[in-house]
Amino acid sequence: MAPKHHPTPLSVGDRKALSKELGRARAMTTILAAQAAEAHAKGEALIRQADKLLCEAVNERWWADGGPVDPSPTIDQAINGGYPWLEIECSRCRTRRDVDLAALLHPSTTFVHDLASRLRCSKCAAANRRPPATLLQLAQRPRQAAPET
Ligand SMILES: [Zn+2]
Repeated sequence: MAPKHHPTPLSVGDRKALSKELGRARAMTTILAAQAAEAHAKGEALIRQADKLLCEAVNERWWADGGPVDPSPTIDQAINGGYPWLEIECSRCRTRRDVDLAALLHPSTTFVHDLASRLRCSKCAAANRRPPATLLQLAQRPRQAAPET
C-alpha cells in the first residue's frame, strides 16, 4: 500500500498525489469491507458445519454406546448446527420428551450433557422425585409434542 503520511505544507505535486491516494484508499475501503464480509460468511458457514458435525458425532456415540454423554456441544452449538431439539427419557419412569433448546433458560454456553441433571420429569417431580434425564439424541425437529420444558 502507498505511504499514508505527507510532510506539510504540501507542494502542488504532493497535493495531487495525496488526492489520488485518498481516492484509492476510499475505493479500497469498500473492497476490503466486502472481502471481510465474505470471509466472515465463509467462517460462519464453516463453524455451522463444525457444529453440525459435533451434534452428529454425539448422536452416533449416544446411539452406538449409550454414552458417555460428555463431551457434547453447547446449547448454542447445537442450535447453530441445526439440531435445536434434545430428546430425553426420564431415567425412572421412562417418559420421553423433546426439549426445545432455544426455549431453555440455561445460558447458551451450557453443555448439552450438563442438562441431564437439570431437566426434571414433571411426572416424577409430582411424586417428589428428581431423577436425571437420559439423553437420547439431538434432533433437527421434535418427534413428539413437548407439554413443558
Ligand atoms: Zn419420570
